[in-house]
Amino acid sequence: MSVNKTTLQDNVKVAPSEVPSVMNAILFYGPSDIRYEQIPVPKISENEILVKVDTVLTGGTDLKTFKRGHPVLIKSIPSTFGHQFSGIVTVVGKNVKNFSFGQKIVAMNSAPCYECHFCKKSRFSLCENIEFLNGAYAEYIAIPERIIQHNTYLIPENTSLETASILESLAVVIHGYERSEITKDKTVCIIGTGSIGLLFVALAKLNGVKVISVGRTPFKLNIAKEIGADFALNIKDFLNEEELIKNIKSLTDGYGPEVVIEAVGLPETWGLATRIVSRGGLVNFFGGCKKGTNLNLDTFKLHYDELKLIGVFHHTPEYVQKALNLLSSGSFEKGIRNIISKSFPLKELERAFILQESGEVIQAAIKP
Ligand SMILES: [Zn+2]
Repeated sequence: MSVNKTTLQDNVKVAPSEVPSVMNAILFYGPSDIRYEQIPVPKISENEILVKVDTVLTGGTDLKTFKRGHPVLIKSIPSTFGHQFSGIVTVVGKNVKNFSFGQKIVAMNSAPCYECHFCKKSRFSLCENIEFLNGAYAEYIAIPERIIQHNTYLIPENTSLETASILESLAVVIHGYERSEITKDKTVCIIGTGSIGLLFVALAKLNGVKVISVGRTPFKLNIAKEIGADFALNIKDFLNEEELIKNIKSLTDGYGPEVVIEAVGLPETWGLATRIVSRGGLVNFFGGCKKGTNLNLDTFKLHYDELKLIGVFHHTPEYVQKALNLLSSGSFEKGIRNIISKSFPLKELERAFILQESGEVIQAAIKP
């Protein structure tokens, strides 16, 4: 199990008197096999902190992990998992200077090394030694040293623990948004209405940009409208792709949107994105596809229409800070209330995944 760490009690600054020795957690045993069990509370080293988890959000990555495991995040079975959370600092390692007992914090699921080939070029999302954190579907989680140093944040007074738990998704979306060369005079088409797609809608509308949201679940498309999408189109309402593209072009003076963001992660919708985009436009392949999949491109269109195709992955500390500023400004609250649409106790995580899969829940707030 990835939860075992040994240390001495005198390595910690705050005596862990209130911290029990065992806790409830969800363990991943295999595809579609997760179990609510009692496991030891992680012991922390002198460079770590222990956080009592307040809210952990379900998301696309966790749902995929639940269904088929994860090649990077699940190293051995059974394993704890879950990575998008907020909580309260409960125990502090004696060498930790920047956090103290009782603080409300949100920690990212990774931190770059700042030393590798890509980190030296400030391409932190490409870090070759990125350290991941997993295991938030539990009452307590230990935060490793590097993440404490570079990617753990105090939650501002005016921001709730639940709102702050969405920080990582928002950081990823701001990263994708800023790389997409979006300006007010452009139309953005966002394919996908999961939490990431909807956060893109919210961010574009906050910036006063015209948005076309494309999805296939009426409930989620309604939320896209609620958040402010100018148009919300259901792929299923069109006879074929050609009809859908014709409709999208008719909403953009016949040209097509200048920016298309694919937030699904399927080769089919990647291809669709390249056919929707305007001449001279940009496609952001934001949704990661399964390893080994390929995409057919119309080379004529790519060249003569001068398309720009980019991939954007993950977040960096810079975008996390921007996301935190945006959250604490309060201007995102309505969008977040629509996206974190339901709460569940920890033991009902599986039910939350099932509802997320069926499209009835976008992101669930799990309360350990
Ligand atoms: Zn690195």
